Amino acid sequence: MHSTSDILDIRQVEKSKIDQVDFDNLAFGKNYADHMMVCDYKDGAWQKPKILPYGPMEFEPSAKVFHYGQAVFEGMKAFKDENNKVWLFRPEENFNRINISSKRMAIPEFPKDYFFAALETLLKLDEKWVHPGDGNSLYIRPFVIASENGVSASPSNEYKFMIICCPAKAYYNSPVKVLVADHYSRSADGGVGFAKAAGNYGAQFYPTNLANEKGYQQIIWTDSNSHKYLEEAGTMNLFFRINDKLITAPTSDRILDGVTRKSIIDLARHQGVEVEVRKITVEELVSAAVDGSLKEIFGTGTAATIAFIEGFEYADKYHDLPQIENPYSLRFKKGLQDIQYNRAEDPFGWRYEVKLD
Ligand SMILES: *Cc1c(COP(=O)(O)O)cnc(C)c1O
Repeated sequence: MHSTSDILDIRQVEKSKIDQVDFDNLAFGKNYADHMMVCDYKDGAWQKPKILPYGPMEFEPSAKVFHYGQAVFEGMKAFKDENNKVWLFRPEENFNRINISSKRMAIPEFPKDYFFAALETLLKLDEKWVHPGDGNSLYIRPFVIASENGVSASPSNEYKFMIICCPAKAYYNSPVKVLVADHYSRSADGGVGFAKAAGNYGAQFYPTNLANEKGYQQIIWTDSNSHKYLEEAGTMNLFFRINDKLITAPTSDRILDGVTRKSIIDLARHQGVEVEVRKITVEELVSAAVDGSLKEIFGTGTAATIAFIEGFEYADKYHDLPQIENPYSLRFKKGLQDIQYNRAEDPFGWRYEVKLD
């Protein structure tokens, strides 16, 4: 095993910016922790990663990422427990997935020892930015961009793999109303929907704005071929509870393999709840809403953990969900957070302790 100083070059900030941050009134994504990681790919190899003070960077206007969107990212979180230990949640999953995303976007894969050395070093240096307490976390954003200059439409020969971190409080907690898509699509067969490719997000802003104008916060995406099958909600995976059974669509070219999704499936089964991973149609959803067997819909993702959906519109008709006691959504959100914050046993081995000394 190498020590991190063999793996990384480190230049620390002279003075931390943490005193300028109002942790009680955080606007998500507005404040960044003191340090970031930058690793360059050139001459056919990833160079030595650098930890630097967070700050602006210079790019030429011809850098390929600006023209062809060759960019992928990840989203993960660090949590602090009551004894000031810092934990990551299933970080190997994010590491594996960013390389899956990279491969699809013709970006070279990143070495695992660099990824983990960078995470550990950043969290050690910026440990104070991880606040304890329910809902508090440090959101970690690894991403890769094509940095070579030149507007020729071909894969870049140079990239930057970076990691930046921002403090987060629980967000999206009020229930949302969603609109079921019958025209726009998030992803298509053979496309990049399974990858965390930057362009997937850019392409869904416009249809989401249209939904917002109609009073819906998010879109439930349906399959691009027939618009008959329910797929994801905004940038989250989707779960339906019909009577006492949970249903979620199988992952595919079009549906992203969310870490929260698979954790909820395991957690629910562990608690004796029946989970069906199968395709579910809009028709089945509407008839379950009409006959009252539809109890809950929720989205899952790292940012919000679980987002409660209070109703949906399809074919100009709005369907309200019932108010129920002890919903699965709350129970599994708490179950997951208890593991993330080291408040409960972790029978799955999901927690990853960050060594702070
Ligand atoms: C990131 C993402 C998710 C959620 O994945 P997690 O690993 O649970 O954060 C779901 N759908 C899409 C489209 C995403 O980009």
